[in-house]
Amino acid sequence: MKKTNLTNISFEFFPPKTPEGVNHLLQTAKILADYNPDYFSVTFGAGGSTREGTLDTVKMLLKHTPVAATPHISCMGTSKQDILDILVKYQTLGIKHLVALRGDLPSGMGMSGDLRYANELVTFIREQTGDHFHIDVAAYPEIHPQAPSAQQDILNFKRKVEAGANGAITQYFFNVDAYFHFLDECTTHGIFIPIVPGIMPIYQFSKLARFSEVCGAEIPRWIRKRLESYGDDQESVRLFGLEVVYHMCDQLVAGGAPGLHFYTLNQADVVVMLLKHFKQDQAASKAS
Ligand code: FAD
Repeated sequence: MKKTNLTNISFEFFPPKTPEGVNHLLQTAKILADYNPDYFSVTFGAGGSTREGTLDTVKMLLKHTPVAATPHISCMGTSKQDILDILVKYQTLGIKHLVALRGDLPSGMGMSGDLRYANELVTFIREQTGDHFHIDVAAYPEIHPQAPSAQQDILNFKRKVEAGANGAITQYFFNVDAYFHFLDECTTHGIFIPIVPGIMPIYQFSKLARFSEVCGAEIPRWIRKRLESYGDDQESVRLFGLEVVYHMCDQLVAGGAPGLHFYTLNQADVVVMLLKHFKQDQAASKAS
């Protein structure tokens, strides 16, 4: 095991839809706050469908935890005026950091908004608010599923950087080489912003497989086969998932990743196990 030092972590949540979900998220956020994250980010529903949910969740996190809150904002299905209204609300709350995305339209939703791509959203945010916000954007080491080619995708990623993005968070992946190759490609294309890997802990195989299909994240055959073989044995899924994701995080941090962004799905337990594992390894390597 390499001697890795885990710093610059962040946790992503989605806006809960029920009072029970709100309570659960609050407990999760309080537990994860103890790990001194840089920030909690809160997703923005497809086509702006949880716009108020994002704002309410951000307010709740600010009120009940000492951690900075970072709302996601997407332009698909949202007008410029709506985006501006949201930006003003965030500025009033003292928010200084956003994750800016194109988003995806929910099925059956016809309109597409005034801005077509995330680079246009970043340009709009910069036009309206100058340097007020630190803006992160999305990056795709395994290529965005709608991109016509890998080459075109990286050029489109560069557009977001040129529009004023300060950093990026990746779509999750289970191939570490894809991340490091993407960093090399970025350097070749003159892109030098920090690109933080997005980490998806393995909670449940069937959901992970469905979601990975949609977002273009590859589950390597050996991982898929092992997970499939556990069937309903959730404990084995969790233990194997922990081993795989821990090893991946270890390689990423040892290889120089500037941080780790965890897709928590509003659950603390698996992420806590991962972080405890890191702490134990750090303590052991200090002692040796
Ligand atoms: P873009 O960067 O606009 O790219 C979308 C596609 O268009 C790509 O194929 C790209 O190659 C192409 N493209 C980009 N710019 C141009 C251009 N100028 N001309 C032609 N083609 C172009 N979704 C949500 O709805 N809410 C969230 O909160 C959310 N959070 C996310 C957080 C992270 C870290 C990540 C990685 C994804 C998140 N998503 C979220 C999903 C994201 O919205 C989808 O992946 C979406 O399909 C693309 O968003 P984008 O910002 O990467 O789009």
